[in-house]
Amino acid sequence: MERPSNNTADTAQSLLEEQRVWCAKIRDIAASRSKNPLAYVDTYGCQQNESDSEKLRGMLIEMGYGMTYDEYSADVVIVNTCAIREHAENRVLGNVGELVHTKKAKKSQVIVFCGCLAAVSKTVDKVRSSYEHVSLVFPPNKLWKFPELLYRALVDKKRIFETDDENAFVAEGLPTHRDHKVKAWLPIMYGCDNFCSYCIVPYVRGRERSRRAEAVISEASSLVAAQYKDITLLGQNVNSYTDPASNCASGGLSLRFPALLKKLSDISGDFLLRFMTSHPKDAGAELFEAMAQSGKIAKHIHLPFQAGSDRILKLMNRGYTAREYLDKINLARSLMPDIVITSDVIVGFPGETNEEVNETIALVEAAEFDAMFTFIYSARPGTPAAKLQDTVSKEEKHERFDRVVTLQNEISEKKHAQYIGKTLRVLVDSKAPGEAYPFKARSNGGRLVHLQAPPEQDGGNREMVGEFVFAKITQSNNWSLYGELYG
Ligand code: SAH
Ligand code: SF4
Repeated sequence: MERPSNNTADTAQSLLEEQRVWCAKIRDIAASRSKNPLAYVDTYGCQQNESDSEKLRGMLIEMGYGMTYDEYSADVVIVNTCAIREHAENRVLGNVGELVHTKKAKKSQVIVFCGCLAAVSKTVDKVRSSYEHVSLVFPPNKLWKFPELLYRALVDKKRIFETDDENAFVAEGLPTHRDHKVKAWLPIMYGCDNFCSYCIVPYVRGRERSRRAEAVISEASSLVAAQYKDITLLGQNVNSYTDPASNCASGGLSLRFPALLKKLSDISGDFLLRFMTSHPKDAGAELFEAMAQSGKIAKHIHLPFQAGSDRILKLMNRGYTAREYLDKINLARSLMPDIVITSDVIVGFPGETNEEVNETIALVEAAEFDAMFTFIYSARPGTPAAKLQDTVSKEEKHERFDRVVTLQNEISEKKHAQYIGKTLRVLVDSKAPGEAYPFKARSNGGRLVHLQAPPEQDGGNREMVGEFVFAKITQSNNWSLYGELYG
């Protein structure tokens, strides 16, 4: 593990070192058994949760566990949960409820409930009273403490409910087990200070904390050395990134996100850097220029706009107007004509009128996003928006959702059709089931490209995963492109 530079970091360091001792204790228990214990990690929600699960797997492997996808044979089942919308919450809780059967079949099984829902006190109370088969609950900011908590659950045989920590720190050096060999998640910051009025993230993930640039660069270099070709920098608002080491240097200039991107681009090797998510209020010329200047930064930005009405944007506490948003994407396109811009939008925010939905529709028409995720507003208890009267009926919300999605599908279809006949450099990232297009690849802008196998004389079904190749696009739809190997 690395040595951080201040007192708080030293405390964090010693807490993390203690966890190694707990890992070793569990490893001893595992070694005393006739066969390796198995763990199943089930992940819901966003890329940050996926990345957290890679750390849980890393810790489990260090504790002597093997991985399985079968809940019944698992000695430990971990459900890494998502709290972003009610629908996600209900799905998770339904599936956790079902685990009562696996626990019945295997009495010694330890069922773990972690992730964002484990930081919502009402949900934790429900787990405590109604899901007695769950033995261990801990919030995302206590991920680093998993070995100690698991040891106590295994040895004390008591139910453990770990609570959140106001002063969460950045846990460097946790082991990570990545399943994918080509694409990697690389968190650069945790938490969020934006408090968009509808969003639960700042409450469950805590205040913004950036990793030290040195640690990020070192991890990225190791990933490139290990042949990862597509690295996505993660943060709820990557534009808020500030290197804490540069921050405390007396009078020194803070190292912010565009500067971090430049430093990462200097790592030698053939790889692509992606990042998500950017907040429109903080994304600007400096970021777009850094993107335009580097051949290693993918020409793609995911820039959620959330609403087209200035009144709703204000109620959402987003910090920009529709005009300012459009000006930003116009600036990005003026610097990078081929940039892919994707976005998120919410329909049915409390009090949203029909005229205001039309303003969202007008923004979608003007912005011509390559792709967009549309969400129906979901009240999250404890957020300011949940106190607003929800005036939009369920039917209206669905009708608005359909209108927005239909429009975006038409735009995506049109944009994707413009690729037909063009040749793109793509990264083959996985094999796909099916004869016609046995490979999946991504363009520089992140478009999914279904790829035909090379002809027999060029190696037929050769292993192309992990290679950058040229693809001639022959077909498209609103979601993806189809192509053949070129040259
Ligand atoms: N930090 C990122 C991602 C947040 S969650 C960002 O700010 O863009 C991903 C998306 O979920 C958001 O962009 C938003 O569109 C949607 N979302 C968040 N809270 C929601 C809620 N309460 N109801 C519906 N959609 C929501
Ligand atoms: Fe939620 Fe807003 Fe933070 Fe994104 S920026 S995580 S939407 S509060």
